[in-house]
Parts: sequence; structure tokens; C-alpha cells
Amino acid sequence: MRLLLVEDDRMIGESVRAALRQDGFAVDWVRDGRAADETLQSERFDLVLLDLGLPQRDGLDVLRALRARQDATPVIVLTARDALEDRVAGLDAGADDYLVKPFELDELAARMRAVLRRHGGRADTAMECDSVRLDPATKQVTLRGEPVMLSAREIAVLEALMLRPGAILSRAQLEDRLYGWGDEIESNAVTVYIHQLRRKLGADFIKNVRGVGYYVGRPA
Ligand code: CA
Repeated sequence: MRLLLVEDDRMIGESVRAALRQDGFAVDWVRDGRAADETLQSERFDLVLLDLGLPQRDGLDVLRALRARQDATPVIVLTARDALEDRVAGLDAGADDYLVKPFELDELAARMRAVLRRHGGRADTAMECDSVRLDPATKQVTLRGEPVMLSAREIAVLEALMLRPGAILSRAQLEDRLYGWGDEIESNAVTVYIHQLRRKLGADFIKNVRGVGYYVGRPA
């Protein structure tokens, strides 16, 4: 899952980003409202964590612009403003939930799961390909109905491939899925995760097109 964190407070931003990465999210972090708006117009995210008091452009403004573009990306508002009208304004502007700072990271994680589950509500979110099934909300993977234990990053690679069966993803595209901006990427990381996934899900499950990339399912 790819997540955009919009937060101008360095301490909060760093701790939230570290905790979410630990949970296997690819986190991109921007620190002002204008950057948030531009990023949201050019990139896709599974979830946005949005501070309201931001330099350049207010968080509420960014949120209203997002919804005005008919973009339904889930948004959780992070606000230091405890006032009722601010929380109401956030929800009215199209937020899916809000958290008042300071908050516990465990609570943030629980709210995120709830919002992602609700959004997943468009029918069954689980993805299936051959005998492998992946539920992105719970991160559960089964092979022929039997649970398979995968690491967060193995799941991130698997999810990217299963989102578009038959589509070939290059190593760079898979790396992009694994990490947010500014993260160091070990040059053979994708190869290692693919190897692990094949070991756990069957050697033929992920196919390789030499020099191009990887895919699951039938070639498009
Ligand atoms: Ca702020």
C-alpha cells in the first residue's frame, strides 16, 4: 500500500513515517499544502494522512480540491485543532476520519485499517490469481486456501503484481511500490523478494520476461 503523509511538523512526520514503514507501507512525505496538492494530482495513493495547519495552503483546501476532482482516495485528517467546528469542517470537506494530535500510533493504525476496510467495501477487495488469494485490507495470503506467511515487503511486491494480472512490471516499478521517496533501495531487493515469493507460492507463479520485468497470470 502506498501512502501520502502531509505533515509540516518534523518530529510527528518522522515518527509516523517510521512506524508506517515498519508496517510495510510505502510512505511519501510532503510538508506543505501546495506540494500535497501537486502530488495528489500526479500520483495515486491508497490512503492520505493530512494535517490541516500547513504552510502554503491549508489542509482543508487541499482536501476540498481533491474531492472537487472526484478523487475518492481515502483521507484521514490529522489535526491539532481540537475544536468541534474544525473536525466537522474536515468531515464536511470529504475526510473519511480524523485524529486529534497528539495521538497514539496504535490508534492511527487502527483508524487506517478501518478506513481501508470501509473503502474496500466496494464488494470483495481480495485479489485472486491462479490459486493465490490476497486480501489487501488484512494482508492475508492463501495458496489453495491454505494461509501463507509473507513479510510486509513480500506482500507489497505480490500486491503490485496481482493488482494487474498479465501486466509486466519492471524492477523499477516494483521498487517504487516498495519504498517511499528518499528511501535507500538495495540493488537486488526486488530479485530477493521475487525469489522468496516463488519459493512460498510456487516457482511458476511469478513469471519473468528477461530484461523487461515480472508478471502473474496470463500475459496481457
Ligand atoms: Ca501543522
